[in-house]
Amino acid sequence: MVYQASLQIRKQEIQKMIAEKREQLMEASTELSIFNHNPDDVAVDLYEREKNVGLMELLEIELEKVNEALEKCAVGEYGICESCGSSIEAERLQSRVDTVLCSKCEQAQKTKLH
Ligand SMILES: [Zn+2]
Repeated sequence: MVYQASLQIRKQEIQKMIAEKREQLMEASTELSIFNHNPDDVAVDLYEREKNVGLMELLEIELEKVNEALEKCAVGEYGICESCGSSIEAERLQSRVDTVLCSKCEQAQKTKLH
């Protein structure tokens, strides 16, 4: 399957980013406990920390999507439109790994909703 390789790369990238964020967060919390003299600095650190936590959550959601995509790859169902069963355009899958409809079916669904 063509997509499997690029999904694996994406997975590794996301895992690396999560690990980096986790490290930053750990460093930040040590700094916070040692140098918490200036309340302004603490506020900035807390803001940074929250931003990083938010980013990490987003990355974890993305990682989950990639994992699901890889599972689908394993059973040969990835990139297949759930509605009509034809293959989903590669560029659609690249922008969103969890795309389940081809452009035609998505268009049809949108028209139905309006
Ligand atoms: Zn379709």
